[in-house]
Amino acid sequence: MTGTGLAVYPGSFDPITNGHIGIIRRALVVFDKLVVAIAINVRKKTLFTVEERLDMLGESFKNDARIKVDSFKGLTVEYARRTGARTILRGLRAVADFEYELQMANMNRKLYPDIETLFMMTGEEFFFVSSRNVKEIASLEGNIDSLVPPHVAVALRKKYGITSP
Ligand code: ADP
Repeated sequence: MTGTGLAVYPGSFDPITNGHIGIIRRALVVFDKLVVAIAINVRKKTLFTVEERLDMLGESFKNDARIKVDSFKGLTVEYARRTGARTILRGLRAVADFEYELQMANMNRKLYPDIETLFMMTGEEFFFVSSRNVKEIASLEGNIDSLVPPHVAVALRKKYGITSP
């Protein structure tokens, strides 16, 4: 599928959270198919390897044929072009996300004007959820069960060597 029916949702997904999933579910009202793609950035230190993150994404969407998971190196616009997508999807939480996202969207449009960046505002229930704070809470043995899917909570506990939920 190409054109308007397909969007690429890029990110680090280190790990995927219920905030990401909320955006994905809502985007599927607009798009027929989504590629959720890990942007591999060797300069960014991540908790999970690309393979681990891909596995967690795959497990999250294994029952939904509309969602494909993938990873890529290099520019997101180039990746989107290769997949045939015309839209890059991004989520917006607070004002803090705005400036960075505006810069990225404008730069991407300059690089490849045929691809549009579309923003979805986060639902209020996930406003405060980020991969970063989920990791922090998990590392301090806090309860993350409402913030990530169950298999991600298990993976986080394992990473931090926490045995009980
Ligand atoms: P990146 O490292 O590219 O910011 P992330 O995995 O942190 O990747 O996020 C991917 C996308 O999802 C970004 O557009 C980010 O703003 C958005 N996002 C992350 N958490 C949430 C959330 N809780 N609600 C809505 N969007 C979110």
